[in-house]
Amino acid sequence: MTILDDKTPKRTPLSEVGEFGLIEHLTKEFSLVNTSSIKGVGDDCAVIDSGDYYQLITTDMLIEGVHFDLTYTPLKHLGYKAVVVNLSDIYAMNGQPQQITVAIALSNRFPLEAVEELYKGIYLACQNYKVDLVGGDTTSSNTGLCISITAIGTVEKEKICYRSGAKEHDLIVVSGDLGSAYLGLQLLNREKQVFEANPNMQPDLQNKDYVLQRQLKPEARKDVIELLESKGIVPNSMIDISDGLSSELLHLCQKSNVGCTIYQDKLPVDFTAISIADEFNISSATCALNGGEDYELLFTVSQDHYEAVKNDPDLSIIGHITDESLGAIIVTKDDHHQALTAQGWKSFF
Ligand code: ADP
Ligand code: MG
Repeated sequence: MTILDDKTPKRTPLSEVGEFGLIEHLTKEFSLVNTSSIKGVGDDCAVIDSGDYYQLITTDMLIEGVHFDLTYTPLKHLGYKAVVVNLSDIYAMNGQPQQITVAIALSNRFPLEAVEELYKGIYLACQNYKVDLVGGDTTSSNTGLCISITAIGTVEKEKICYRSGAKEHDLIVVSGDLGSAYLGLQLLNREKQVFEANPNMQPDLQNKDYVLQRQLKPEARKDVIELLESKGIVPNSMIDISDGLSSELLHLCQKSNVGCTIYQDKLPVDFTAISIADEFNISSATCALNGGEDYELLFTVSQDHYEAVKNDPDLSIIGHITDESLGAIIVTKDDHHQALTAQGWKSFF
């Protein structure tokens, strides 16, 4: 009997398993059979043995209407961002990206000039991050625009950082600041609604440049990887923050079999983001914990590196790694200890 004959097939909604549950469910039967496959599903990149070094590979797909809205996303920015989000995953392994391939599905409402704009952004990202466009695929779409990019990079074997390497007592460090990209998105959505209600209204986006740029034209933290290298620091574990700090920290703890304690008053938030969060009547800490798309790096280092990281303006120590039995905890400003939960950035379900 095939599933086609089954009159009462089981139908489990995808929302029941969630994005990460789904990936785990679909891939758990696949074991790695080639000795060159060092790391398969479950980290920021796949890791392949290339003799003297490791090769890193990662893919991310952006879909119109799910990940971006073309009413306020310039195509050049979109091309740039589509590259950057992939490079961020290479840096999250402590690697250096070298090549990308780009697959696009286009609907016939796109003129040549629009696709050219998209590729201007891809070109700029390739220049800024010194990566080569080496291939891809082009096809048509009956619905929206789809861009899938694969990035390839390398890392010295002894410098690779997995999600799974965090050790008890490690310092938890985050680069840059958090929550701004989410607030940028809230602003753009608000102004879109205002515009749809009254097309003569001019958008109110004054003094909002920083959060808008964080949403529309993010950068990957190549500079942070170079900074760590210059300080002689190899993190014990690392992940990039695409889905929100809580979600990524929980991944890191789960893969490392550890717990963590972080402090709300240590979360780095830009001052303009704080005032915009106030405007929206949401807590900037919630944006920092659960807002997505910041593309900062979250890593853990042994306490020996305390002096080297504590005064760096690009790095914030937000807490420390604990025993697994203690769970993942956030200490609020009024000294309450709360379990960290991943509200995350669920694009799909
Ligand atoms: P990131 O947020 O770093 O891009 P994801 O959460 O997208 O990572 O993916 C987590 C892991 O699952 C990665 O190792 C990724 O390669 C893998 N993965 C995601 N989707 C699939 C899929 N459909 N089939 C196989 N592996 C997948
Ligand atoms: Mg990642």
